[in-house]
Amino acid sequence: MPRPIGATINQTALHNNISIVKQLAPYANIWSIVKANAYGHGLSRVWKSLTKTDGFALVNIEDAIFLREQGWKKPILLLEGFFQQQDITLIDYYHLTTSIHSSWQIQAIAQAHVSKPINIYLKINTGMNRLGFRPEQTQIIWRILRSLPNIGQMTLMTHFADTKNLKKFNKSLKCIKKAANKLNCLCSLANSATILWHPEAHFDWIRPGIILYGASPSGEWKDINNTNLQPVMTLNSEIIGIQNLVYGDGVGYNYHYHALHSQRIGTVSCGYGDGYPRHAPTGTPVCVDGIRTRTLGLISMDMMAIDLEPCPQASIGSKVELWGKEIKIDEVATSAGTISYELMCSLTSRVPVKMIF
Ligand SMILES: *Cc1c(COP(=O)(O)O)cnc(C)c1O
Repeated sequence: MPRPIGATINQTALHNNISIVKQLAPYANIWSIVKANAYGHGLSRVWKSLTKTDGFALVNIEDAIFLREQGWKKPILLLEGFFQQQDITLIDYYHLTTSIHSSWQIQAIAQAHVSKPINIYLKINTGMNRLGFRPEQTQIIWRILRSLPNIGQMTLMTHFADTKNLKKFNKSLKCIKKAANKLNCLCSLANSATILWHPEAHFDWIRPGIILYGASPSGEWKDINNTNLQPVMTLNSEIIGIQNLVYGDGVGYNYHYHALHSQRIGTVSCGYGDGYPRHAPTGTPVCVDGIRTRTLGLISMDMMAIDLEPCPQASIGSKVELWGKEIKIDEVATSAGTISYELMCSLTSRVPVKMIF
């Protein structure tokens, strides 16, 4: 028998979530963000559930080529652009859209031999200071790019550093609007948080990532509780051992938890070797046969201990949900001091994944 752990990817939830994104921004085109192996869900598994999208955006050119080979004919955007002059040959051959964020890339495109003009996203740095040209350079760079015969459609793009602090968000929005002044161009500005909470910044092409996978860009599930977004990934396992503790017994490595009274605990076959966060402290929520309970002590590589006090009927073989519908991945992430994005991306290859409908 295989270990009882497994992840499921819910195709219906993906369909549902992209429909909700469409309702949130009815006039925008959608780049579905599928970088990092579709946020850990598996690009090859999920892309067909997202074909309502207008395009896919990602960072690895291999993933773009994969989608083309699978028959995807609509746009594909390389969010980090290209890394070497030679990459332009593939961008041309596979008809990819590339972001341009550095001057050397302009020269590289200008000098390339291409079969048709390349569509580009001009990336402007509105505060993140990661990639992009300074806003005040926009007009001149736009004109240079526009004059190049190797360049086709052009779109202005930025990525907001702060969508929570309204003052900082508005400063960046004002900055990109000023940069775009009179260019009469297409704009792509909005990540999930902007799609949900700043409709005035949707513009032409939105870029939803985390909301497609049914988690909250704020890290708090309650912030998207009223949206009907549904969790796509579930991580399940089972209880494989039961221990009856007496007062003072320790649990797990370094006895991080001590029983305060006689207590029945379960051992679940899931640990950080599966992608569960090792930093999840005692009290992180889990669900046993539909009843919420909590982890106890340190998470080890293959196992964790859980409190069976709220679920006295639980026994070996009882189903445990680590995250999914009952336990939101945002709750686990918050408890472990991280974000859902990181947990999704961290699922390890030893966890079997099944599509459900
Ligand atoms: C990852 C990414 C997104 C999606 O962000 P979410 O918060 O997951 O919606 C959008 N735009 C860019 C440039 C990104 O790198």
